[in-house]
Amino acid sequence: MLREGVLLNPELETQDAATRRAFLEKRLRETWSLGLDELGGKPITRKDNLSKLQEENLPFAGLLKGPVARLRRLFVSPGPTHVPQGSAIDYWRFGMAFSAAGMRPGDVVLNTLSYHLTPGGFMLDAGLRSLGCVVIPAGTAETVAQVRAASVLQATGYAGTPSFLRTLVLRGREMNLPLHFQVAFATAEMLPESLRTELESFGIRVLQGYATADLGVLAYECSEKSGMHLHPECIVEILDLETGAPAEPGQPGQVVGTTFDKDYPLLRFATGDVSALIPGEARCPCGRTAPRLKGILGRVGDAFKVKGMFVRGSQMEEVVKRFPAIARFQAVVTRAEHQDHLEYLVELAPGAQVDFAQVAEALRETIKVRGEVRAGVIAPGAPRVDDRRTWK
Ligand SMILES: [Zn+2]
Repeated sequence: MLREGVLLNPELETQDAATRRAFLEKRLRETWSLGLDELGGKPITRKDNLSKLQEENLPFAGLLKGPVARLRRLFVSPGPTHVPQGSAIDYWRFGMAFSAAGMRPGDVVLNTLSYHLTPGGFMLDAGLRSLGCVVIPAGTAETVAQVRAASVLQATGYAGTPSFLRTLVLRGREMNLPLHFQVAFATAEMLPESLRTELESFGIRVLQGYATADLGVLAYECSEKSGMHLHPECIVEILDLETGAPAEPGQPGQVVGTTFDKDYPLLRFATGDVSALIPGEARCPCGRTAPRLKGILGRVGDAFKVKGMFVRGSQMEEVVKRFPAIARFQAVVTRAEHQDHLEYLVELAPGAQVDFAQVAEALRETIKVRGEVRAGVIAPGAPRVDDRRTWK
């Protein structure tokens, strides 16, 4: 019998449409001096563009309310973009999402997102602690050490990418170390149903949430596992990819978020992720009433996610340009055994030579994801990134 989740904040999570509208209207007025009807007339800020805006106006592009001294932490995400952690206890609003996933106060939770310079580890950490969970800050420590820690410290919860959870469970079996995971919150990469089914067969309830470092949690799954309820404390718009107008439910569009944090609120921040609202009755058997997002359907433009990290074709190109011997390159992303694999094909200029290991290291330093480099022939007009993954 798998665990169940609970509503952490029934008042907000079950409000009817009119109450939700009034609630968001009030937050929008308090934070942005705007009404909901005026929101659509405001320009969007693209995540892709944030790095440039920050460079022009260091370090936060003028979007911070109040002094840096009031913040808790400062991060640098690949891109690079600077990300503040404001003073709120659960700054990224993970509490409701973890509770829906089945995390409970007193759970010992292995948190496997990185605590180094990028915010992922701290995002989950803050939410878990706000819920009363006890965190093992495993970050990106080596697998064997994590299996030992989870086993000996009797972790009942897991937070991180679903593929790494599978790796831990399988390694635990090989090492003959019992793992006690009952509940997992999956984020930062796709959760294919085949992987969820496999993890559930180990007795682990696995639910996912959708968050970005800048906006926090925007949506999270409930027991129905059919889409992610929008977080009640932010505004999520799905905007048509061509016109920028609100997309009809069922139609794909870019996810654009508006938040009300007192230190770093964002107005119409475009994530670059593509999703769609699920049409039809919003009230869900779980009791929540917020509309649901389909999973993430893709990315607008150049960026994609591999091994839980955002990677941009333009970043790769900048690194590759430092090696004049390389005439052309292409990144190829594949997936086997629920693991992402990144490989670079490089085509050398006639007669030129290059140390592939050196290129791989330079790419890893910038991209933060390890990939192999090998010689290849790249067809004219081929995309800079060939994402061959399928998500069944
Ligand atoms: Zn639901």
